[in-house]
Amino acid sequence: MVAGRLAAASSERTLLLEAGPDYGPADSGRWPRDLLDAASVALESHDWGYTGEFGGRVIHFHRARVVGGCSAHNAGAVVFGSRSDYDGWAAVGNVGRSARELLPLFGSAWKQLRVRRVGLDELTPFQRVCGDAIMANGIPAVEDFNDLDQNAGVAPFPVSIDGVTRVNSAFGYVDPVRDRLMVAGDAPVERVLVRGGHAVGVAVRDGQRLAEIGASRVVLSAGAYGSPAILLRSGIGPAGELIAIGVEPALDLPGVGRNLHDQPCAEVGYEGSGELIERMERHQAETGWRPNEQVIAKFPSAGCRQGFDLHIYPVGGRVKDTSQWFWILGVACLTPLSRGSVRLTGPSLDDQLAIDHRYLSDPAGYDRARLAEGVEHVREVAEVPELRRLLGRETRPGPAISGRQAIEGFLDHAAVHYYHPAGSCKMGPPSDPDSVVDPGGQVHGIEGLYVADASLMPAVISGNTNMATAVIGERIARSLLGLPRPPGVLGFHAAVTFPGQTGRSGTGAQLGRRAGPAGEPGWSDRGFRPCSRRLMAAHADGTGRRPARAEGTSYGSRKRTRPQARLRGAGGQGRGAESRWPHPERPGSAITNKI
Ligand SMILES: Cc1cc2nc3c(=O)[nH]c(=O)nc-3n(C[C@H](O)[C@H](O)[C@H](O)COP(=O)(O)OP(=O)(O)OC[C@H]3O[C@@H](n4cnc5c(N)ncnc54)[C@H](O)[C@@H]3O)c2cc1C
Repeated sequence: MVAGRLAAASSERTLLLEAGPDYGPADSGRWPRDLLDAASVALESHDWGYTGEFGGRVIHFHRARVVGGCSAHNAGAVVFGSRSDYDGWAAVGNVGRSARELLPLFGSAWKQLRVRRVGLDELTPFQRVCGDAIMANGIPAVEDFNDLDQNAGVAPFPVSIDGVTRVNSAFGYVDPVRDRLMVAGDAPVERVLVRGGHAVGVAVRDGQRLAEIGASRVVLSAGAYGSPAILLRSGIGPAGELIAIGVEPALDLPGVGRNLHDQPCAEVGYEGSGELIERMERHQAETGWRPNEQVIAKFPSAGCRQGFDLHIYPVGGRVKDTSQWFWILGVACLTPLSRGSVRLTGPSLDDQLAIDHRYLSDPAGYDRARLAEGVEHVREVAEVPELRRLLGRETRPGPAISGRQAIEGFLDHAAVHYYHPAGSCKMGPPSDPDSVVDPGGQVHGIEGLYVADASLMPAVISGNTNMATAVIGERIARSLLGLPRPPGVLGFHAAVTFPGQTGRSGTGAQLGRRAGPAGEPGWSDRGFRPCSRRLMAAHADGTGRRPARAEGTSYGSRKRTRPQARLRGAGGQGRGAESRWPHPERPGSAITNKI
């Protein structure tokens, strides 16, 4: 996306190099169906094959090797996180990176990625009943999941999905400027060429040989594993470690590859029921669309001091290869304290990366304890009668694993992750010995070399990372172009309205009292509360125990009359060129955020 922004506004020539294929514009007809179909994540077809070890087993760190990166295979959830995430970045010396200053750029990314809100009537029966149960268990339904100041809420998340087609960052940022931007697929970058403290180009793999390409400026957006790896292969990193694996150091920068972290998760699995399958199949027949994920709940754990730190994410659908149904209530610890690293095992692109997240390793055991608390919360949700009836038996970890100690023991070998690696090229002032780049993305000590991706986050946001990564890209592109600070940040209390939405502003609580989807009572009227008093009471007394369940809350349901949805531009499948949901954006579904 940085390349797209630069090509659009700069007089310089921009070349985008991608290790995986470039299938051309969205309507080229060459994009594989699994990368377009947003109903489920596409883990296998374009994977880098990164693995690591946790709890005595091999775990996979899927990353898409294709133009657009992981935005081309992800779940399309558009999540902003909490105000404290970005203010936290600013507080450690990253000038201009506070929520107030970045928020206008969320608006730009929202527009480029064609983000839309998901109506309640689009929810699959599984997602709807999970949302109802989460509400009944004390987390309030909110109209705007991305209100940065709201610390507890459940909602369908907005999506970067057009109809049923995933809008990856190449569709959003590269396609509009393909006539001005050179895009080279299947061009893996081995290293950056550095002369006299300046980046002067890159060395790209071309079969068994290396081709050198000169450039006045190099921007790495290879992700939290790829960007530090390229820096390390270029001799930029901890000098001692580099020498040990045969890389000649160009700059001793100890932070490269350190501070790697991701959000650990636990997934509680259920058997399901015939009725649930039958309702899901009926939904699919009526709508032609049955995504695995749609609803997320955010809330603070008992020990949370700022914002919120847990997500519950229901995932339910069919395993592609076996057609087996699966039902999961996942929980993610959003603000992990554990830190790991990405290192080289040898000097070349062919040498495997050593990726070690050191999940659940923080000395005080906060990550493990928060995740265990999340599992307990998920189990309470699953006890809500309607969900209990549809979900049936818990299959994993299973009833034998009960009590805090047993759950923590289970997590030590069975925790998974949220696919949101971050932090391995930490952004910070030069005075921070662990930092790698300054707030403008420039690598400390190397002129003309920048990083712009999720690796910059000093601490991962409390949410899914695609949108925040796009905002990082927007911000760095602006500074590379010499543009002034984004519009809207100068005034105090200015309101930012996201494109395609009505111009309302206010807190989620204020918005929640206003109208809901067109012609319907607001979702707020069906159970919205400014914050969950029950949940907050539990945290206020420090016990983490919640008072009795609230009654009578429901997402409600509405008959779906939508025609069969189709993929847009699926390669060679003879599908129609246009397939949007037939209804317009609802006037009542504004997303606004105070800055
Ligand atoms: C399965 C999955 C589901 C996800 N779901 C969501 C979601 O629903 N919502 C959300 O917000 N986030 C989600 N994420 C996370 C989100 O997609 C990422 O945070 C985001 O894509 C990170 O962008 P990035 O630019 O940092 O890295 P990446 O997306 O990893 O992009 C890196 C790019 O650089 C290329 N590259 C790497 N090394 C080289 C090299 N040496 N030479 C040339 N090119 C190279 C890669 O091929 C890739 O195209 C998901 C991630 C995964 C894996």
